[in-house]
Parts: sequence; structure tokens; C-alpha cells
Amino acid sequence: MKKISLVVPCYNEQEVIKLFYDEVQKIKKDFKNVSFEIIFVNDGSKDRTLELMRELSKNDDVRYVSFSRNFGKEAAMYAGLEASTGDYVAIMDADLQDPPALLKEMYEILESKEYDSVATRRVTRKGEPVIRSFFARLYYKIINKISKTEIVDGARDFRLMTRQMVDSVLSLKEYNRFSKGIFSWVGYRTKWLEYENVERAAGETKWSFWKLFLYSLESIVAFSTVPLSIASVMGILFCFVAFIIIIFIIVRTLMFGDPTSGWPSMVCIMFFIGGVQLLCLGIMGQYLSKTYLEVKKRPIYIVAETEKDKIN
Ligand code: UDP
Ligand code: MG
Repeated sequence: MKKISLVVPCYNEQEVIKLFYDEVQKIKKDFKNVSFEIIFVNDGSKDRTLELMRELSKNDDVRYVSFSRNFGKEAAMYAGLEASTGDYVAIMDADLQDPPALLKEMYEILESKEYDSVATRRVTRKGEPVIRSFFARLYYKIINKISKTEIVDGARDFRLMTRQMVDSVLSLKEYNRFSKGIFSWVGYRTKWLEYENVERAAGETKWSFWKLFLYSLESIVAFSTVPLSIASVMGILFCFVAFIIIIFIIVRTLMFGDPTSGWPSMVCIMFFIGGVQLLCLGIMGQYLSKTYLEVKKRPIYIVAETEKDKIN
């Protein structure tokens, strides 16, 4: 008898959590000799999500972990993976954008032992604002140029993994987590399933453009040190340019004397170089701040309650 754990991060998902549970019950009959365990992770929801989890955990196949506040989806996924006990573990959104119906196919692929993980990516960005798609594409282009770890365009967090791979993912205990990179970094054989984007069943997305933008910057810092090299390369380049200018000015002064002019160009150059210096300092600051957060070794999440603490 095999066991599949479904890890479901939830942040203000009162509209969909029950729908999700019902949908999973429907697909169970397609599996033979497989038991399920649903682990809802309440990521500091401000609505009735936790109450609904308590309610649902009266069923044997439901467990939950509730955070003391909102720690973000990355932390929620980590907590869910840690709590999971199944031979296979899937990460799924609560909003049914990751169709449970795909689980059967994913399970069979892993059972054939040819792969250690089945991941999903959406092939279209239909229904997404044009500007967001544009920046998303640009982001994937850049990150894959500057990072050795492959970050697949359109990859969702929805994937089914073997216990071995889950344990590997859990062994990366970094505080600044970027799962898309971590799944790829740990290696193993991954099969990609492609599917069309599905709209959210109810409720609304938790990601604003700004949140996504900051998340993308974080992922760059987490999986590439190229920006740091850019700072060094720019430094060398500027020294070189300065050297040429010095020679040019010395030669010109010796040949033509020293007419005092060039104040506007001087101001432009000062502003430009000042800008580049601040940029480089900023890049270093980004890495320094992440290092600072890592060395503090704060826990990735704090649990306030699980199904075991539930009264009655
Ligand atoms: N989520 C979370 N913590 C957060 C934000 C989101 O656990 O701080 C969960 C959310 O409840 C959902 C999943 O992450 O199950 C994906 O969020 P959402 O559907 O809003 O993102 P989208 O699908 O629009 O990218
Ligand atoms: Mg969603």
C-alpha cells in the first residue's frame, strides 16, 4: 500500500478549501492500493480558513499545520513537506489551478521508476495581463543566462516527488527559499507535463505585480552571483576608460595648453560614475542582506497549531 501526501499552502482560501477537498475525494477512486494524506498549511490567513481546516481534519485523511502569522508560500511549502509522511508527495495550490485529475498520470509515471519527480508547466499565459507576461518572459531569459541552475519558464510549483527527493529538498535549510530553483538544484530525473492554464476556482490571487517583482529579484540573488561579477567587471572597465582619458588629457594639454572648459561634460561624468557606484553598492547590499538573514538562522516558520492540538 502506497501513500501520497498532498501539501496545500493556504492563505485566505476560505472560498476554495472545501472545493479542493471534494475534488480530491473524487479522484481517489481512480487509485488502487493507495492511501491519501492531505496536509493543509495555514499561512496566517485572516479569514475562516483555519476554522475550515479544523472542520475538515475530522476526516482521517486530513491534517493541518497552522502558522503564527503569514510566512509566505515558500515557508508553507517547506512546512508541508516536513510534515508529510507519504511515499510520494505532491505540492498543490488550494485554488484548483493545479488539477487533482493530473495526479493519476503523475503517480503512474513515478511508479514506473523511470523518474523521481513529475513537474508541471503551463504552455500558455492566456488570461494574464500583457505586461506581466512580458516581464515574466524577460525574467526567465535573464535568470537562465546568469544562473547555472535551470529555472523552467512557466513551471508551476505543482509536482509529485518521491520521498527521496523530498528529503533532499528538506536538506536545503536556507532561509531565503526559492523552490523553483531548489527543485532543479537537487537534481534527480524530472518529467515535465504541459497543460493549459486553468483559472482560479474562486477567491483572488495573492500575487501583485510588485510582489512578483521582488520575488524575482530574490531568486536572482539566491541562484546567481553574476550580478556581483558585473560589479567587478564594471569596475575594471571604468578604470581602463579612466586610464585612456588621463593619457588623452595629458597629451592634449602638452600639445594645446590648458583652456578651462568642459564643466558640463564633467558633471555628466560625475553623475554617471556616481550612479554606477551606487548600483554596485546596491548589488553588494542585496547579497549582504541575504547573508545577514541566513546567518541569523531564524526558523523558516513558526507553528501555532496542528491537528494534534485541536480541542475535541
Ligand atoms: N499562498 C500562501 N501564502 C502566501 C501567498 C499564497 O500560502 O503568502 C498560497 C495560496 O493560498 C495558494 C498558492 O499559494 O494556494 C498560490 O497562490 P495564488 O493562487 O494566489 O497564486 P497564483 O496562482 O495566482 O500565482
Ligand atoms: Mg492560483
